[in-house]
Amino acid sequence: MKSWFAGLALGLAVIAGITTEGVFAQQAPGKRDFEAEVEAALRSAKTAAGFEFLGTLVRICLVPQSGGENTTDNVPGYVAKPASAPSRDFWYAEPAKVFDNFYFVGGRVHSAWALTTKAGIILFDTIYPYNSEELIIGGMKKVGLDPRDIKYLLVSHAHGDHIGGAEMIQARYQPRVVMSGADWDLVEKYPNRYKTMAPKRDIVATDGMKITLGDTTVTTWLTPGHTPGTLSYTFTVLDRGRPVNVAYSGGTAFNFVNNTPDPGIRNFQTYIDSQRHFARQAAATGATVLLSNHSEFDSAVNKNQMLAGRGNGPHPYEQGGNLVQRYFQVMQGCARAAQLRLEQKLAETAK
Ligand SMILES: [Zn+2]
Repeated sequence: MKSWFAGLALGLAVIAGITTEGVFAQQAPGKRDFEAEVEAALRSAKTAAGFEFLGTLVRICLVPQSGGENTTDNVPGYVAKPASAPSRDFWYAEPAKVFDNFYFVGGRVHSAWALTTKAGIILFDTIYPYNSEELIIGGMKKVGLDPRDIKYLLVSHAHGDHIGGAEMIQARYQPRVVMSGADWDLVEKYPNRYKTMAPKRDIVATDGMKITLGDTTVTTWLTPGHTPGTLSYTFTVLDRGRPVNVAYSGGTAFNFVNNTPDPGIRNFQTYIDSQRHFARQAAATGATVLLSNHSEFDSAVNKNQMLAGRGNGPHPYEQGGNLVQRYFQVMQGCARAAQLRLEQKLAETAK
């Protein structure tokens, strides 16, 4: 409880801009000023977040993280008792045409996206089992897309809020399903956890793999951390005929053992390395749009509303390459702060 309050107080100080002077200390071993190092990491995340990525900052720098990874195999409540699923008011959002060839078919909290090509549709993520039918299938029909044209289904990671509709979509429309090997393994290891959600193992994504459909290519990047096999993507969309490069970040929160130095420090390093890796790919492809599978991280639902009044103004999703890079700095700064706390814990127990 104590660390919860300490974390919240520190987080609120960050939001309020009340940070004390701190640097990434270069001090003699054993004399590290952990508080100063943590504050420096948090300040770097806060500065990078600005007003654009407050949702991400709040979620991973401020809100207490869950203690670790889930190793139980229980049928989720919303599958065992569908009536217990959150009500439609909580999750419904209107679908939207976001770019010439790219559509939002998600909800208020979780996103799914349809990329249209000359040879069919590439669908990204599938939300929950209880709302994929209305949001994805219903949403596609509402914006004039035919779900039977889904040729590829890319699942960023095997959590119920993204893989929820995958079994249904694979069975009904027979797209090729792409996921990382580590997350295919999760699906097979926990049959109850993925009840009604589990697609049959199909394409195993690798780092830098190209998925090409018609005139369009999506590149998959392994960004382990959030899950052992979280995938992120780079691809190009068209805005009134102009190519725009997108970086799609597949996993954000610290859903791994994060409260003990071993293996927490290592897990945070995996996460940080993944963010660096994907930030480099985003820069190399000239990404000016940062997308997520959670609206709280990329403000997709708000931006969809802004699109309606765009006129001849800039595209609300297009923020520029520097802002895309700042997103990854938020993730790295928050992860580094949490990793430092574990390093501090380790140093204290070693005394
Ligand atoms: Zn997740």
